[in-house]
Amino acid sequence: MAVSNINCSGKLYVVATPIGNLADITFRAVEVLKVVDLIAAEDTRHVIMLLQHYGITNKLFSLHQHNEDKASLVLLEKLREGQSIALVSDAGTPLISDPGMPLVKIVREAGLDVVPIPGACALITALSASGLPVTQFSFEGFLPRTSSARKAFFSERLNYPKTWVFYESCHRILAALQDMSEVLPLDREIVIARELTKLHETIVKTSLDEALDLVSQNGNMRKGEFVVIVDGVTIDKTDDLMTPEQEKVLRVLLKECSIKSAVAMAVEITGVRKKVLYQAALEIDKEKGA
Ligand code: SAM
Repeated sequence: MAVSNINCSGKLYVVATPIGNLADITFRAVEVLKVVDLIAAEDTRHVIMLLQHYGITNKLFSLHQHNEDKASLVLLEKLREGQSIALVSDAGTPLISDPGMPLVKIVREAGLDVVPIPGACALITALSASGLPVTQFSFEGFLPRTSSARKAFFSERLNYPKTWVFYESCHRILAALQDMSEVLPLDREIVIARELTKLHETIVKTSLDEALDLVSQNGNMRKGEFVVIVDGVTIDKTDDLMTPEQEKVLRVLLKECSIKSAVAMAVEITGVRKKVLYQAALEIDKEKGA
């Protein structure tokens, strides 16, 4: 049904816009952007390019992460007065690592309609072409900014059984892969999806160590925007078990040496898999800090 034929008064439309290629927008999204009273945009200068491309001349309102609590109240008032509003972000689906959550929350709480207009989203785009299992996955947003916090984050996901996905910028992609390679096994399969839907779109599926080589050696692989997808771990449940005796050995070794040495010796003594011992060692270490 055409949007212009329906009553959009007092409705908030959450409109997905392209993540690169301007043609990746739905007919419905263009129509909504034309007929609403106001477009709330993360960066009004940025959205103008898209609007000009589709001949849309509409009023703009700035809503970004630094003003969104106040701006959302102003927008709620306008909706209550019967105006219709489209929420867009700089790229892709609003709210997905982008502003908009406070607005959607208060509009729903006020009992007004929130209408999603689906479209591009970088993580779904990357997953769809990754070749990794996607029946279930976990989206992690952006990684922590410091190396120590990133390593802690990777340690927590060492044995995560499902595919996991994160966003990264060109400034931190290399550092993120370096940290990952210090924590995860180097043969872990990952997908680096770069500049999706754009001229230099690159989607590489390889092992962690090869991905690290590629990104460190090829400057182009450190340019643009990135989605990184990491394969989950299929652990045979019987391999995952440790006897209390084996755990005791690990605990004794951890009292005397570093995690790395304790795990290496425990592998020799107990025959338990390194991955299992390493994860257990991290947990024991956490208990000490708690
Ligand atoms: N709302 C957006 C979405 O639906 O995907 C995400 C916005 S978030 C602020 C921006 C991040 O998304 C980038 O740093 C990058 O990690 C990822 N991203 C956005 N566009 C991309 C593209 N064309 N190719 C690869 N990653 C992209």
